[in-house]
Amino acid sequence: MNFYLPEHVKYGRDSVLKNALLLKELGRRCLIVTGRSSAKRSGAFDDAVSALNSCGIDFFVFDEIGENPLVDTCFNAGAAARNFGADFIFGIGGGSVLDAAKAAAIFTSSSISEPMKIYERKATSPLPLALCGTTAGTGSEVTGVSVLTDGKTGRKKSISGEDCRASLVFADAKYTFSLPFDITVSTALDALAHALEGRLSPKCTETEIFLARECVPVLINLLRQAQKNGTLPNESQRDEIYLASLHAGLIINTCSTLFPHPLGYVLTENYGVPHGKACAAFMPELLRRAQQVLPEVFSELSTLLGDAESAMQAVSELAGCSSLNIGRAQSEAFALRWEKDPPKNFALSPGGMTAKEAAEILDSQTDTATRSG
Ligand code: NAP
Ligand code: FE
Repeated sequence: MNFYLPEHVKYGRDSVLKNALLLKELGRRCLIVTGRSSAKRSGAFDDAVSALNSCGIDFFVFDEIGENPLVDTCFNAGAAARNFGADFIFGIGGGSVLDAAKAAAIFTSSSISEPMKIYERKATSPLPLALCGTTAGTGSEVTGVSVLTDGKTGRKKSISGEDCRASLVFADAKYTFSLPFDITVSTALDALAHALEGRLSPKCTETEIFLARECVPVLINLLRQAQKNGTLPNESQRDEIYLASLHAGLIINTCSTLFPHPLGYVLTENYGVPHGKACAAFMPELLRRAQQVLPEVFSELSTLLGDAESAMQAVSELAGCSSLNIGRAQSEAFALRWEKDPPKNFALSPGGMTAKEAAEILDSQTDTATRSG
C-alpha cells in the first residue's frame, strides 16, 4: 500500500454550506477562481458566497479561466490574489478551473517572475487552496497535478508535487446536475480512463485494486446507458458518478496515467477534442495490450467492465475520434516531441512504448472507420 491524501475532503450534499467554518481556518480574504459561467449555472458559486459571507470572509472574483487553462491566465489570477491581499484561493469549476486554481496558488506566494518559470520551480509554499468541483471526471480535487497549456505552443504540460494540492475539498454532485450530455460523457470517459490506466500501471497496489472494483462498473454502466439511449444520468446516478470520479482520481494519484493521456493531449491540442474523449480514443488499444502482457489484470477488468470488447465498442463510439484521419506522416510529426522527451507514462504502459509505436497508435486509432470498412 502507498496511500497519501493530505486533502480534507468533505463529500456529500450541501457540503459547502454545512462546512463553511472550515473556510475560516484558511483566512479572512479569499480569491474565488472560476470559469466564465458554469460556477454560477451549477449553483456552486452562490453556495460558496453564502458560506464565505456567513464567516465574514471578504472575497474577490477572478472568472477568466477557460478550458485547458493557459499558464498566462493562471499567472494573472495569482497577480489578482496578490493585489487583493488574499489569504487563500477557492477554485470552483471543472478540472480546468481546479488546475488553474492550483497554479494560481503557487504564483501568488512564490517569487516566480514569468508564467513559464512555473515549470522550473523548486518546491514552493503556495497559498492555501479550497476546491469545489462541478464536473465528475478529472479527480483533480484529490491529485497533486495541474495540467496547464502553454499559450505560445498550444501544448498541454503538467506540473506536479506537494505544492499542487488543495487543503480543503468540497465534493457535492448536485453541482454536476447542470452538465449537458456531451460534457457528462466526456468527463465520465476521463474518469474511466484514469481507473483503467491506473489499474494497469506497475504502481498499482491493493488500495487502487479495491478502488477500481468500486468505480469501473459505475462508470461503464453510465457510459453504456449514454451510448444506448442517449439519456442523462438521474440525480442518484450523478452522486455515484461523482464519487467514482474521485475514486479514479485517487487511483491516478498513486499510479499515474499511461500512454492514452499523452496521446490524448495531441487530439485536444490539434483537433479540439475534449480531454476525456481524447484519452478514451486510446482505451481499446490499452486493453488490447493488457490482454497480451497482463492477462490476469485484463481478465479482472473485463469482468468489471461486463465484457471488455463490447465495453470498448461503446467507449470508442462515445469518444468519436475514429474518423479524424490524422494519417501516418502527421502522426510521426506529432511524435517527434516524444522522441526528444519521452513521457513517463510510456515506460509505465503495459509492454512499454516507444515514440514510433505511439505514432502508429495515433494513426491507427484515429482511422478505424476506414481500416475496418
Ligand atoms: P473543463 O474544461 O473544466 O470544463 C469543460 C466545460 O464544462 C466548460 O465549458 C465549463 O464551463 C463547463 N462546465 C463545468 N461544470 C459545469 C456544470 N456543472 N454545468 C455546465 N457546464 C459546466 O472540463 P473537465 O473535463 O472537468 O476538465 C478538463 C481539464 O482537466 C483538462 O485540462 C485536463 O487536462 C485536466 N485534467 C486534470 C487532471 C488532474 O489530475 N489535475 C486529471 C485529468 C484531467 P466554464 O468554462 O463556464 O467553467
Ligand atoms: Fe484525465
